[in-house]
Amino acid sequence: MIEIQNLVFTYTGQTAPLFDHFTWRVERGEFWSVIGPSGCGKSTLLHLMVGVRAPQAGRVSVNGENVPRKKNRGKTGLVLQDYGLLPWATVRDNVQLGLRIRGFYGQDVKTRRVSAKHPRSDAEWGENPSGLTVGVDFWLDRFGLTPHRDKYPTQLSGGQRQRAAIARTLVLDPDVLLMDEPFSALDAPTREDLEQLTLDLQAETKTTTVFVTHNIEEAVFLGRKILVLGNPPHRSPVRCVENPGAGRAGYRDEPAFLETAHRLREMLKER
Ligand code: ADP
Repeated sequence: MIEIQNLVFTYTGQTAPLFDHFTWRVERGEFWSVIGPSGCGKSTLLHLMVGVRAPQAGRVSVNGENVPRKKNRGKTGLVLQDYGLLPWATVRDNVQLGLRIRGFYGQDVKTRRVSAKHPRSDAEWGENPSGLTVGVDFWLDRFGLTPHRDKYPTQLSGGQRQRAAIARTLVLDPDVLLMDEPFSALDAPTREDLEQLTLDLQAETKTTTVFVTHNIEEAVFLGRKILVLGNPPHRSPVRCVENPGAGRAGYRDEPAFLETAHRLREMLKER
């Protein structure tokens, strides 16, 4: 569960706060979309949730523990729009990179969850060199990247790169997954393909997920709940839309989908 209480945040050098006593709660296993106009503070909100930015006041906690200040919370996965892949490393090495770093720093591997669908042994988690590869290969396969594992990022399509970036995050078995406009640079069919993959994975793993987008249709297709941000400063009470149809096969063609998209469009006009 992610809990944000009375959050206050202003960038250094700015006079107006982006968040001014902002309170929001995400329950364990929920899938939220966050939508708002460009520049309203969506990425900043994710950075505060992962801990790379520290609030001036208020509290951000995950599963009851305060997010460490200015220190990336290890069990929170963050997927960005620009992939963040190392150009000189193969797909496989990129996916393996997070595990290597974790192995090097000896980060908390003991509290990981075990899922029946994605079984993991100690060996899969890089605690011995031969086992390092198993979890990586599982996710490469799950994302259809096995034929591309020895290629470099520049030899991949945008969709394949983003799959590699998500695989690299999931191999670390995050308990919270934050996604910052991950598909906005992709063409429509690739984007829809990855949106479906994201929904399938969330249904399988039940990972608490927050998906930031400025695309109304994407927000409605993915988020069972939608946080709607207008112009800052963001204060409580926050505007939330229940969207129980998200994740349903064929939801895009249902009247409820169009109605929710229309409602969001009107709310965004109000700011
Ligand atoms: P969004 O993700 O909704 O597009 P951001 O969170 O990236 O918005 O940015 C919110 C606001 O904060 C914008 O006005 C942006 O210019 C400003 N901002 C972002 N990063 C910084 C920074 N490092 N220093 C000062 N202002 C920043």
